[in-house]
Amino acid sequence: MKITGLKCAVIGDNPVVRIVTDEGISGYGEIESYKPYLKPAVLTYTPYILGEDPTDVERVMLKIRHRGAFKPWGSAVSAIEMACWDIAGKAAGVPVYKLLGGKVRDRVRVYNGAVRFPMTDYNPEDYAENMKKMKAAKEGFSIIKQGIGFHSPMHREIPGFSYADAQRGASHGARNRGLLTERGLTHTIACVEAMKAVLGDEIGLALDCGPGWMAPDAIRLAKALEPLNVMWLEDLITGDYVPYVSADVYRDVTRSTSTPIHTGEQIYLRQNFKELIEGHAISIIGPDPCDIGGIAELKWVAEYADLHGILIAPHGTGDGLLGLAALVQVCATLPDNYIAFEYPTGKPDWWYDIVEGLPTPIVVNGFIHVWDRPGMGVEFNIEAATEHLAEEDRDFFA
Ligand SMILES: [Mg+2]
Repeated sequence: MKITGLKCAVIGDNPVVRIVTDEGISGYGEIESYKPYLKPAVLTYTPYILGEDPTDVERVMLKIRHRGAFKPWGSAVSAIEMACWDIAGKAAGVPVYKLLGGKVRDRVRVYNGAVRFPMTDYNPEDYAENMKKMKAAKEGFSIIKQGIGFHSPMHREIPGFSYADAQRGASHGARNRGLLTERGLTHTIACVEAMKAVLGDEIGLALDCGPGWMAPDAIRLAKALEPLNVMWLEDLITGDYVPYVSADVYRDVTRSTSTPIHTGEQIYLRQNFKELIEGHAISIIGPDPCDIGGIAELKWVAEYADLHGILIAPHGTGDGLLGLAALVQVCATLPDNYIAFEYPTGKPDWWYDIVEGLPTPIVVNGFIHVWDRPGMGVEFNIEAATEHLAEEDRDFFA
């Protein structure tokens, strides 16, 4: 089998990759909804993969893997990787999890990432109210994540929150970082306490915190929250779109507390997890298959983390419905250090009308049942999907 074409269309806000072959099988991969601008970057990989056999996934990856980078620039390589696995599964007539070594669980736990209810204020009662809504969500999540500190408007809406001036700008465009005031720290702790009061010990609370915390504040927060048994504190030091890791600083924080410390969503490739894992600098890693370089890369890092006593809770909130399918396939194969992956939704809602093969409902009691159809196990309803293609992408399915 040979690759005869690489296409990319922005559907909703998600760039979707289609690899076309000479045997009539196509494979699809998806990029986060936050990156609609990546289509031109995807197409730059065309000359490197044309003529390659997509079922020799690793050989294809050796042609392009060195041309990616930390978020957002690892996405194109990751989507191509997932499209190759989709083809390999369809060609073999087996679900992708079989090609990754087989599943070790029949259902995968997810945590709430993308099921969100708007907040207008950022005081403890607002966080409690918002948490009640997420707790009542039909998915029945057993773990819910919420943004606090620099990973929320809290840091600029609460007067005197930090000693740094709040930078304003588009989401993830503004760089906020600095030492907290005592008021900022006590406000943050009060908000977490209010959320825990709603969730009790029935539902785990994970907190996306930064990046942007200074190490002394990160340590104070983690120690103060120890009695609350939160699931993890995410991206305190680096994360999001930070193009480096700072494993030594993470190690100082992690070693100082019993609260689990989590990072990794922006990190590209196994090599860049090396210091975090070998240095025991972290309790939980959170790579995103749509950023790390693909699902096989994520599995390798998960196995290596397990050898070192480190857990994994993959990121995925913007990965869309094809990303969801890829997460289900790979997470079915991960070792026992797997906790849950971050649940993405289809945005806008019509995404649920153009993709076929997902279970109904998708999430039951916080879990997704692993399906057995070939490849990633989801397909476009081409007639319905075509209606949502931009004029310049009209030939995407042709
Ligand atoms: Mg995060």
